[in-house]
Amino acid sequence: MTHSTVLSGKVALVTGSSRGIGFTLAAGLAGAGATVVINGNNADRVEAAKSKLAEQFGQDRIHAAAFNVTSEHDVVAGLAGIEANVGPLHILVNNAGIQHRSSLLDLELADWNRVVDTNLTGAFLVGREAARHMTKRQRGKIINICSIQADLARPTIAPYVAAKGGLRNLTRSMTAEWAASGLQINGIAPGYIHTEMTQSLVDDEAFNKWILARTPANRWGRVEDIVGPALWLASEGADFVNGQTIFVDGGMSVVV
Ligand code: NAP
Repeated sequence: MTHSTVLSGKVALVTGSSRGIGFTLAAGLAGAGATVVINGNNADRVEAAKSKLAEQFGQDRIHAAAFNVTSEHDVVAGLAGIEANVGPLHILVNNAGIQHRSSLLDLELADWNRVVDTNLTGAFLVGREAARHMTKRQRGKIINICSIQADLARPTIAPYVAAKGGLRNLTRSMTAEWAASGLQINGIAPGYIHTEMTQSLVDDEAFNKWILARTPANRWGRVEDIVGPALWLASEGADFVNGQTIFVDGGMSVVV
């Protein structure tokens, strides 16, 4: 990864950055000069990720804020702590997310709620709190990590499809209300990316074969594939890009 200074002096929070796509996005933002706050639910994993990135980018550039994005109280306290101790938040990446696989007929309400709370309500709570600070300053970038499933359904992941479709539209609603206050809110919709969340699918020979055949680029996405689009959306280069969701999926969403 090339290091640049395009985001130097900017404070960025990436939710769910203790591992997976979020961790790589945090590293990418730090590589572009930003001061980055690592988040996750599990405080030990957050600290481990913070230490790893601090070794590379320096202690003063990498911070930790472990909180549950679904808890209004913890989100408000977490954002206040970042503003007070790290600096004014300029970039928020709403990335925390979970998956749960079950047929709709067997789906328990508790599992539906857990998935919608984490993937959609969490982005509302963290986005609202960040925007309360950002709108006062008349600047800020919010990037909502959606999914190809914001647009395309598959059996057994109904709450995820509903939540990601909702997140794409929440991106538009945030734009409707906050763009005039100098904020740019956009989404990134990754296709199938090889992470812990999708390891069981990668290991499933039939599914893996289907993915390769179904993806024009003929490969799984890599976490690094999400970094370039995120850096662009976080930069001044995208200052007139509002409410869009960029599909980063090797072409899967444009072919049948
Ligand atoms: P992952 O490897 O499972 O990592 C999920 C991250 O979210 C972890 O850091 C986890 O922290 C955090 N998290 C979960 N619940 C949280 C909560 N309530 N509060 C705070 N943090 C929480 O997932 P991933 O594959 O990197 O996915 C990241 C995002 O990309 C998700 O929104 C996902 O839907 C989206 N996405 C992924 C793919 C893919 O193919 N992998 C494709 C499209 C979209 P803990 O360790 O503390 O739980």
